[in-house]
Amino acid sequence: KPVVLSGIQPSGHLTLGNYLGAIKNWLPLHASHDCYYMLVDLHAVTVRQDPAELRERCYEFISLYLACGLDPAKNVLFVQSHVPAHARLAWVLNCYTQFGELSRMTQFKDKSAKHVDNINAGLFSYPVLMAADILLYQANAVPVGDDQKQHLELTRDVAIRFNNVHGADKPVFTVPEPMIPPVGARIMGLQEPTKKMSKSDDAPTNALYLLDPPDTLVRKIKRAVTDLGSEVRFDVAEKPGVSNLMSILAAASNRSIESIAQEYDGQGYGKFKQAVADAVVATLEPVQARYREVRDDTEGLRRVLRDGAERASARADATLQRVHDALGFIPA
Ligand code: ATP
Ligand code: MG
Repeated sequence: KPVVLSGIQPSGHLTLGNYLGAIKNWLPLHASHDCYYMLVDLHAVTVRQDPAELRERCYEFISLYLACGLDPAKNVLFVQSHVPAHARLAWVLNCYTQFGELSRMTQFKDKSAKHVDNINAGLFSYPVLMAADILLYQANAVPVGDDQKQHLELTRDVAIRFNNVHGADKPVFTVPEPMIPPVGARIMGLQEPTKKMSKSDDAPTNALYLLDPPDTLVRKIKRAVTDLGSEVRFDVAEKPGVSNLMSILAAASNRSIESIAQEYDGQGYGKFKQAVADAVVATLEPVQARYREVRDDTEGLRRVLRDGAERASARADATLQRVHDALGFIPA
């Protein structure tokens, strides 16, 4: 079976963007792929984290993976720092990635502008660690939102470069393909619909969080910025706010943008926003209903993660061994 790998960093709180752009699309893949889904805690420390909060958030995120319906019997669920091969391969790949390539990454530019007092080397080489995450599993496909497309391009470039230098007879790395969903790939902020919704955003009314109570979700959607006029029409340049709500409704209710435009054309924003709110609440209700029970069983979560780390390590270590051989490192 082809291999799929994806992950989310435990920073902030999971948003509807993370769900519609990532987790929701992970759910059915186990039928056709071997699936590895991680919590990338090594990535999270590229910005300062409070240790107690980070610890709680890791349990929260894994509980949400399970509450969203990811079955640990059918998917390998694990924490990045539990598999040492990630950091080890990242070091090697750092030596195969150019300073200039990393300087062009838009996420680095955005995040370094936001965290001016802590522009650390980890923030800069973040995409190299992400390349290691993917290449270790020889992943064929990587389901991500649109925002990670540039990083995935870099992963491909690094893999091809390493293969060209060291894989003349047999490629060392599988070159992965992005898997970007047709709708929901870029959910924008509710208050700033020209910027993507992010879980580590400081303005909580800009994002819809998976654990927001239903009345909070409804209130945020009703207060979302809309645009001049009153037509419900998909036009990202002229009507970014309305277009974003249409994307949310489309992805949350598995409908097409066209059918939504047809149904709400000429109805005004009120009825449309109510439909968006209803769809979001209906999507998140079952997740929230399962969450508490899953989170309360910390021992059960740790068992899932230990088992996941063992299965992930088996595959990751095999790749790392091939890399070391290719480089000329002698066996231990
Ligand atoms: P942070 O602000 O901490 O970077 P984030 O919301 O960008 O948080 P990531 O951990 O960087 O989350 O990304 C996790 C996954 O969610 C990735 O697959 C990413 O493409 C997807 N994703 C993130 N934001 C959105 C969004 N607004 N719309 C769709 N998908 C998204
Ligand atoms: Mg991000």
